[in-house]
Amino acid sequence: MKTLEADLSRRRAQNLYRERLVLESSQGVEVRVGAETLLSFCSNDYLGLANDPRVIAAFQQGAQRYGVGAGASHLVSGHSRAHHVLEEELADFTGAARALLFSTGYMANLGVMSALTDRHDAIFEDRLNHASLIDAARLARARVTRYPHADVARLADILKHAPRGGLVTTDAVFSMDGDIAPLAGLAGLASEQDARLLVDDAHGLGVLGRNGRGTLEHLGMPLAPPVILMGTLGKALGVFGAFVAGEEALIETLIQRARTYIYTTALPPAVAEAVRASLRIVREEGWRRDRLRTLVARFRAGAERLGLVLLASPTPIQPVVLGTAEAALAASQRLREQGILVPAIRPPTVPEGSARLRITFSAAHEEKHVDRLLEALAML
Ligand code: PMP
Repeated sequence: MKTLEADLSRRRAQNLYRERLVLESSQGVEVRVGAETLLSFCSNDYLGLANDPRVIAAFQQGAQRYGVGAGASHLVSGHSRAHHVLEEELADFTGAARALLFSTGYMANLGVMSALTDRHDAIFEDRLNHASLIDAARLARARVTRYPHADVARLADILKHAPRGGLVTTDAVFSMDGDIAPLAGLAGLASEQDARLLVDDAHGLGVLGRNGRGTLEHLGMPLAPPVILMGTLGKALGVFGAFVAGEEALIETLIQRARTYIYTTALPPAVAEAVRASLRIVREEGWRRDRLRTLVARFRAGAERLGLVLLASPTPIQPVVLGTAEAALAASQRLREQGILVPAIRPPTVPEGSARLRITFSAAHEEKHVDRLLEALAML
């Protein structure tokens, strides 16, 4: 077995060492890191709600009413009225019969897959799926096949030789590329196969669709079997947590069988109250989604003029692919010297040779911020 020090040195030598920033401020357009104030393009707070006074007030009132911790798991005594009402509101918002809260998106993906499949089942994953979907299949001990990115035709070929049933799973908006999965094609294949389609809409919920219902709404698809929706509450909704939405029998099965639901403390009820407030804003303030679209269009037009390599992303995730880990780190560092915070994303988070700057926009940004970013990118 390698010594820990040897492994850490190798990571450093390969520019793969990861370090954390320590934020002194709240998340937002400007963040404070040590003595620096930086213009940030790296949060997933796409609608600018993590700091909204209405959401903060709901959080405070929730803490006054329920205290700061749930004190138990949902099936013991941790399931409060706040959780219960939020589940009903999430079901209504997504158009599902029911929704079930999980503490994180990572745990929701693990819970769904291990509750619905076992080692006799097959799981099919897009090659660029988020790590939590990959880890979920490992935990389920099912047979996993990874298909080429967004390639419905290739998956159809693979399924011809596969047993019926099982689970197809995909990011709806790919977390590092920002592109949208071909959900209609995948749902069609899953139906023909008597399989389910687990759609991880961590980055689409709140952002896409006229009402912010996410990628399914954007594509004009209903939330109905074979689709199972997983949405997160720590990105566009600005708070924390996750949920799974679907039909009655699915949700009851998860309550009975999903170990990452059963054996963990419920979210603080105050978090659920904060999410309820942010969900109201997501529903009512469509201008936030319009603003994001305008900012993304401005960025893409400017970046194309600069000759930067962009991906086919219509979402607030706008990567600039640079190739080596070294190039991505150097670019991130040069932006930092100009007061701009954009992370370098390196393998294994993205495939070898595709290290990149991952730029994300928020409705809290203004056009002048996009212009400042473009000026800095022009000087790279
Ligand atoms: N799925 C995707 C596609 C994600 O990007 C993330 C978060 N990075 C998750 C799931 C996990 O969600 P959470 O942060 O709530 O655990």
